Amino acid sequence: MDEFQIIHHGAVTGVTGSCHELFVGAGNSVLIDCGLFQGEEASPGGAHADQLEIDFDIRQVRALLVTHCHIDHVGRIPWLIGAGFDGPIYCSEPTAELLPLVLEDALRIGVTRNEGLIRRFLKRIKKRLKPLGYAQWAVVLPASTGASLKIRFQPAGHILGSAYIECLAKVAGEQKKIIFSGDLGAPYAPLLSAPKPPYSADLLVLETIVCTRGAGSAVIGCRRWWSAALKTGV
Ligand SMILES: [Zn+2]
Repeated sequence: MDEFQIIHHGAVTGVTGSCHELFVGAGNSVLIDCGLFQGEEASPGGAHADQLEIDFDIRQVRALLVTHCHIDHVGRIPWLIGAGFDGPIYCSEPTAELLPLVLEDALRIGVTRNEGLIRRFLKRIKKRLKPLGYAQWAVVLPASTGASLKIRFQPAGHILGSAYIECLAKVAGEQKKIIFSGDLGAPYAPLLSAPKPPYSADLLVLETIVCTRGAGSAVIGCRRWWSAALKTGV
């Protein structure tokens, strides 16, 4: 395997089921989001809206990084936990507050009304949450593992707590900066921190946006923002 590899487990042919796996060396990876499939979209492994079991190996997954709390980015987390994932869940501080509420709602609507089951699941989720302030670095893989990874969240301006993720990964002395955009909003939105363009990246995973008539100007603003970022050195 290459020293750095990304596998897209969702949001490949559409914009739902967002789930990307970043390998840092052969035996360590992190997931970026774990979202619900909607409509006709399916994963490369065959998962879809009516078949949400995790369809890839998670033994090497050390952590889950969450960009924001929309269901197409977090809705498959119950199935990830069900598959045996017991690592930390890194996210921004507002996302850590919102995530249990969003998942509780999703469970009640789509999975079970069993109060005991829901309560136990939410307790497990809360124990795994690692909230980070914006721009605050966190070590996800320490150098002692042979490969190292540190990450930080930056404001994405999409919804409360939304972030894009900067990953600094190092394998065998080679370091790369890899950015996962999540969903992006436009600057100058009321109530949201303005997005901060990244200074640089070796690799940028940029998600597309569902464009509606009402969101048009925001989308154009957002595209301009990222194309400016790209021109200035990403
Ligand atoms: Zn979103």
